[in-house]
Amino acid sequence: MTEPIVELRGVTKRYGKHVALDDFSLVVQRGEFITLLGPSGSGKTTILRLVAGFEQPQAGQVLIQGQDAAGLPPYVRDVNTVFQHFALFPHLDVFHNVAFGLDQMKLTRDEIRHRVKAILDLVELPGKEDRYPSQLSGGEKQRVALARALVLEPSVLLLDEPLGSLDEKLRKQMQVELKRLHERLKITFIFVTHDQEEALVMSDRVAVLNRGRLEQVGTGEEIYERPRTRFVAEFMGVENFFEVTLAAPAAEGCRCETRNGLTLWAAEGNGAPAGATATLAVRPEALRLSLAPLNPAAPNLLAGEVVEVIYEGGSRRWVIALSGGGRIVARDANSPGGGAGPIGTGQNVYVCWDPGRSLIFTD
Ligand code: ADP
Ligand code: MG
Repeated sequence: MTEPIVELRGVTKRYGKHVALDDFSLVVQRGEFITLLGPSGSGKTTILRLVAGFEQPQAGQVLIQGQDAAGLPPYVRDVNTVFQHFALFPHLDVFHNVAFGLDQMKLTRDEIRHRVKAILDLVELPGKEDRYPSQLSGGEKQRVALARALVLEPSVLLLDEPLGSLDEKLRKQMQVELKRLHERLKITFIFVTHDQEEALVMSDRVAVLNRGRLEQVGTGEEIYERPRTRFVAEFMGVENFFEVTLAAPAAEGCRCETRNGLTLWAAEGNGAPAGATATLAVRPEALRLSLAPLNPAAPNLLAGEVVEVIYEGGSRRWVIALSGGGRIVARDANSPGGGAGPIGTGQNVYVCWDPGRSLIFTD
């Protein structure tokens, strides 16, 4: 059973003349891990600030547990925030940083001690109660910030790029830990990041934002495999785009003509009518690369010359200048039987891909 816990309905938020959120709607379900993903300035923090009650919208509604939150001050909302710059109190030790929010509640010293200890165990910081923030590593500070928000037992935890200032290795480790923490606590996490990989790793659902608007919301797999707009596709790593005109739908799929005379195929036209202009896109990792055509009659078979090879560690990227003009990028694409050894710069090659991997956008 799903049950909305936070809902934004047609929310518009302006700062002066600048529209930070434009008629924005999103329903967050109780207990889910949802990520707001978008480039800098797309409105992610603004959403968290509206939910937390630090800002009020000019239009639309924010509902928390089905109740209109307009006029509710932050401290009565069943919501807590972990900020990117975790802003611990430097003059307080870990215990008092975490206990800070509890001091406002009418708890005995023993109850406070007990709750702080339990939450420090949960974030795997036992025995660090007496340390000061200056004596902690970046990862430990982040755990204290988490503990400080969790100790109040909110129904919803808002996390604004909480891993942004950690180095790569620690960030990956904290991603896994946060996900585990979410699974154990079963509270709702609204997590913000501009990193698509982080969003995919962590979330039940991802909401992609662009200039204060919701582009698409869905599971990581839906967003990655079936982006609905060109913006989402680009943000999720699709690199090859062709401007095309669609031919009439046919049994063998959707035929597309580029301006310089290439015929490309997609499995289906995403609802676009014949004659429509659209963008056909394909991921670098969907391309197969070979020195001779694997099947000369295959659809989406293009000839070209490798102009650049980039070694990325586990994979390679090939930039190919197509014979018909334009470039295409392939990744991890060395086909079996494509030739001995990796294909290098200057070689004449063929790329091809399955029409089922073509994406069609009309936006
Ligand atoms: P994100 O978190 O996705 O980077 P924000 O929600 O912080 O984006 O900001 C969205 C837009 O609103 C940005 O263009 C930003 O410059 C603007 N903005 C945010 N806060 C303010 C503010 N207090 N005053 C003026 N403009 C703001
Ligand atoms: Mg932000």
